[in-house]
Amino acid sequence: MTYDDANIFAKILRGEIPCDKVYESEHSLAFRDINPQAQTHVLVIPKGAYVSADDFSAQASAAEIVDFTRALGTVARQLGLVADGYRLLANHGAHAGQEVPHFHMHVFGGEPLGRMVSPPARV
Ligand code: AMP
Repeated sequence: MTYDDANIFAKILRGEIPCDKVYESEHSLAFRDINPQAQTHVLVIPKGAYVSADDFSAQASAAEIVDFTRALGTVARQLGLVADGYRLLANHGAHAGQEVPHFHMHVFGGEPLGRMVSPPARV
């Protein structure tokens, strides 16, 4: 999957559309999901042009990877999610239903989150 500059998170990063920002660092940005799936639902993204976790882990600099990893923890603490727990989730590609082709980690919390994933329907 090649990176598409027209994706919605690239537009957010360029300031072309707004976001509800909760945290920003040199290499990362966190903002609330527009269609929350839990009481707290935030997306943490690297500012660099990476499509997925495997792309990011292979191509990003050590500084970007450290910054992003620290951003995940900072956001969880900042939103008060640590005591009761939270979930991190990243989708990639068709089988995972990735909608936005810019690497992002979902951070869910604020309430019990149920099963980790729904099993696929089998016929
Ligand atoms: P995924 O299916 O993992 O690619 O998730 C993409 C997420 O981006 C979905 O949860 C959407 O609700 C969210 N989303 C799409 N557009 C925006 C936006 N403009 N601001 C915040 N979240 C968005």
